[in-house]
This record gives sequence, structure tokens and C-alpha cells, in this order.
Amino acid sequence: MARSVMTRSEIVDAVKKYTDPFRVQKGRGFRLKDFDPGDTLGLKMNKQEASRLLQRGSEWLAMEQDMLYAQDSWSVLLVFQAMDAAGKDSTIKHVMSRVNPQGCDVFSFKQPSSKELSHDFLWRYAQMAPRRGRIGIFNRSYYEETLVVRVHQQLLKAQKIPAELVGRNIWDERLADIARFEDYLTRQGTVILKFYLNLSYEEQKKRFMQRLDRPEKNWKFSASDVRERRYWADYMKAYEEAIRATASKAAPWFVVPADNKWFTRLVVAAAIVEAMEKLNLEYPKVSLEQMKDLAAARAELKQQK
Ligand code: ATP
Ligand code: MG
Repeated sequence: MARSVMTRSEIVDAVKKYTDPFRVQKGRGFRLKDFDPGDTLGLKMNKQEASRLLQRGSEWLAMEQDMLYAQDSWSVLLVFQAMDAAGKDSTIKHVMSRVNPQGCDVFSFKQPSSKELSHDFLWRYAQMAPRRGRIGIFNRSYYEETLVVRVHQQLLKAQKIPAELVGRNIWDERLADIARFEDYLTRQGTVILKFYLNLSYEEQKKRFMQRLDRPEKNWKFSASDVRERRYWADYMKAYEEAIRATASKAAPWFVVPADNKWFTRLVVAAAIVEAMEKLNLEYPKVSLEQMKDLAAARAELKQQK
């Protein structure tokens, strides 16, 4: 469907049904168990239908991204967090498939290097925040500093923070710092959307089994992922607290059902389309002065051999 057929507010209305149920913008009282990883809003779609809808969404995104780039003012930060095998990589791949690679940067954050550990915990992430006109994707993010580091506290020791500053409230303090950091970025013109791909414990096991069973998926398997399952409950608690402390209107979380990949992708695409449509992006208008320059350039070009 061409853009001209639908107005901006019609598009926002059309995608809302996929985003409203999963958007968390007030942390108080948030509970993960109120969100079903298997939810598809009662929709049943075959692969073809789902991929057609997704394709339309990513084409739309590509148009929006082109204007974002041309305007060179707003930027968009997409944060992806999830347990292993929830589909972060493939969601990013599918949703962004039509977007011009020059306007989009993906950063995958792994264990920090010793240089990174010698800095404050936000240092490595702040440097990768998207510049104006760009979409930045964080595949894992500063939230890991309150997730994996919280679950495995020996990682905190490696951060060499002065002992007297490591108190009982350190996780609340970190989350408060993250919320402030996000406020700061949004006030600078960065639109922040945070996605928690909500995978069930059972579905994770199924996907790990597939990684073991299918040779072409073996490379994705890591024995440590299975060990990490033992800490599932700790991770869920850490996620819940992170979402509670950092969900806001300006930087909402989306708790996206992740047991059905086609649905995960639709919700993520819908959330990005919705947020970008709300920016009312347009191509920069050419001034009278610039039009004169263009006319002069045209005249000169005509005369040249
Ligand atoms: P996939 O497994 O889908 O390829 P991934 O994001 O799990 O992607 P891995 O290389 O498997 O990538 O793992 C990266 C690891 O780095 C994760 O176990 C994550 O918990 C860890 N990590 C990320 N950020 C931090 C951090 N700040 N401190 C310590 N560990 C971190
Ligand atoms: Mg992994």
C-alpha cells in the first residue's frame, strides 16, 4: 500500500493494536507474569501472510528512515534485550531488511574489554548512541549492567569501583542512572524504544534442542547458554526490576511475546513505524534562495558539453 493511500494518523491507528497491549510506560506495579510469551492476540497467520505484512512494515520504515536521514535532526535508538535464543538477531534482520544500511548502525555488546572495564559503566554505550539522522540498534545494551552483572556478581568486582561506593542499593542506583541517561538522550532528540523479547523457559529449551539437532544451527549453540538457564528465575527478577525502574513515556519498554517469531517481528516493526510516524518527518524544504541556486546549476549544466 502506498503512503499516499493512508494518512499518518491512520497508520498510527492501524499499528496501535499490535503495540498498545505490550507497551509499558509506567513501571509501577509492572509484573512479567502478566505478559504471555505465547500471545498472538488471537491472530492466526500463515508464514506468507505474516511475511507480507512484515515486508510492508519494513518498506514503510525504509521511507521514514530516508526522511530521518535527510532531516538530520532526530535520531532513533532501538534497544533489544532478551534471554538467549529469543530471536534478537533474526528480529533485527527481518524488521530492518529494507532500511538503507547507511542510515542504520547495529552494535552487539558482549563481555566488556579491559579498557571498557576501566571506565564508568555507561561509557562504552554512550559512544555508540546514534548520531542525528540515524537509527542505532543496541543488540544487548547498558541494561546488561543490571542483568548479567547482577546475576553474576563477580562481574561487578571486575569493574573496579571503589568499595565504599558498592552498597546494597547499587542496582537501584544503576537503574536510576540509566533512566537519567535515557532522559538526557531523549531531550537531545533521540527517540528511544526498548524491546524485551519475552521468551518462555519451555520455548528456550525447544530452540536449544533445535540448535543441537540441526547441523546448520550448531554454530549458534553454546554450552554456557544451557548453564545460564539455571539462573532463569534470577534473570526474570532482574528484568522485572529493570523494566519497573526505567519504563517511561519518553522511553517505553515493549514486552514482546517471543514464542512465535512471526508475531515478535510484527510487534517490533509496528512499534518502530508508530514511533517514527509520530515524528511527522518530512524532507527538508528547499528555500527560495536554494531554488535559485538549483536553477542556475541547471542552466550551467545545460551549457556544458
Ligand atoms: P547470540 O548468542 O544470539 O549470538 P548474544 O548476544 O547472546 O548473541 P554471545 O556472544 O552469545 O552473544 O554473548 C554475549 C555475552 O556477553 C552474553 O552472555 C552477555 O550476557 C554478555 N555481556 C553483555 N554485556 C555484558 C556486560 N556488560 N558485562 C558482562 N557480560 C556482558
Ligand atoms: Mg548467546
